Amino acid sequence: MDAAGSEHACATITIDNGLIASVDTRAAGKFVGAAGVREIDGAGYLVMPGLINAHFHSSVNHLKGSLDSLPLEIFMLYESPAEGAAIAPRAAYVRTMLGALEMLKSGVTAVLDDAFFIPAPAPEIIDAVMQAYADCGIRATLALDQPNVPEIDKLPFLAELLPPALRARAAAPPVMDAEGLLGCYEHLLRSWHGRANGRLRAAVSCSAPQRVTRQYFRALDELSNTYQIPFYIHVLETKLQRVLGQQKFQGRSLIRYIHDQGHLSERLNIIHGIWLDEADMDLIAAASCVIAHNPISNLRLGSGIMPFRQLRSRGIPICLGTDEAIADDAVNMWSVAKLAGLIHNITAVDYQLWPKASEILDCLITGGARAIRSPMPIGQIAAGYQADLIMLDLDTLAFTPLNDLQRQLVYCEMGSSVRMTMVAGDIVYEQGEVTTVNERSLRAEAREHAERMRSLDARARRAAQEWLPFYRQMYLQAAGCDIGMRRWAADPERP
Ligand SMILES: [Zn+2]
Repeated sequence: MDAAGSEHACATITIDNGLIASVDTRAAGKFVGAAGVREIDGAGYLVMPGLINAHFHSSVNHLKGSLDSLPLEIFMLYESPAEGAAIAPRAAYVRTMLGALEMLKSGVTAVLDDAFFIPAPAPEIIDAVMQAYADCGIRATLALDQPNVPEIDKLPFLAELLPPALRARAAAPPVMDAEGLLGCYEHLLRSWHGRANGRLRAAVSCSAPQRVTRQYFRALDELSNTYQIPFYIHVLETKLQRVLGQQKFQGRSLIRYIHDQGHLSERLNIIHGIWLDEADMDLIAAASCVIAHNPISNLRLGSGIMPFRQLRSRGIPICLGTDEAIADDAVNMWSVAKLAGLIHNITAVDYQLWPKASEILDCLITGGARAIRSPMPIGQIAAGYQADLIMLDLDTLAFTPLNDLQRQLVYCEMGSSVRMTMVAGDIVYEQGEVTTVNERSLRAEAREHAERMRSLDARARRAAQEWLPFYRQMYLQAAGCDIGMRRWAADPERP
């Protein structure tokens, strides 16, 4: 994954104190180590940098497969648990672990978690999430994805569509105000940022520009600037959000709005970026933002197809993510990479514009490393880099016969060839077992927690039914608007 895309038939990699100390590609000679040095025979294996899941919400790790495919705005109705359904710290710990284990076992060494908290963040839940990451050994960067404006302000048409009683409920302020949220960030930064030798880090998140007040938006940007940490922001994920910009932000796109607020920067991880126009993309390129591409989630929620080539040709770094476990029900970066490698082929007739496997690997690893903004180098096998490495068995059907390594990584491998995962020099998965925690007992505990949550989840689904007709109307009204661009294969004229 270096600039030259080097591949070596054999090498001796020395790791010391969490870092790659040296890489000798002259020979796969016998390593003569001192006492206490572990030697790993890599004959027949591929060693590569670990994969990076650059967009994820751990908060719903326990809900995979729980919903039919639905558009984001309707999907989010069903995703919110019933009032008073605050989770216990241990349940949050186990829930976080479910996703982390799935990632480690499939060769993901780092995750950018944009966790949301129902009804509001609390120090003990933040601690539970970070403790899970601390214990399992994955590299994690956590932000608190929490809006601070009422529901009615985030969506177009809703104020006119809702009957008075529901309108009043939708206009109620969220449980926690900006001051409370910033207090939670203070806790996250003080307790966890830089812990585990820098493996655990904080980021900030405003969820989306339309979901926060200008003052809170500015406060988060300042926090991100002070600590030089990533700023996660969902932007123009859906057509409805483009329509919202026209209505609520004086005809501007949400990217233009962020730019006008002075918050478009190289610290911004723009999540999705599907309904961008050419001017938006120019602004993003000029500000050196990163785009987090989540093609499976985008298909699952019918959001549309991100303009991959237009972004890439402007030199905008792209990273890949699974998004949450209800919107990509597997936490598997191999399937994300494969879809990212395929979906854009139907957006251009000229096949020269279609993504190459090498570009997808670049997004997967180099783009992800760029999104983390870690002060420690990540994403290459070179001296001084973090020893975040995985070993893949090349004696598997995915690589037999071995025709082209990069294409087979993107189009053939689904994670089952991963035999070893190492994060910061520590082996966290090998011989089919996560080495850091007891997966079997965690799975059993996860089932118990899910059983306890089931009646609350059912109540939440029933509550959502009350809102559904109005949200459906809002969605269809936005879908029918002419916004001068297409990101769907469907024709909105004929739903
Ligand atoms: Zn997301």
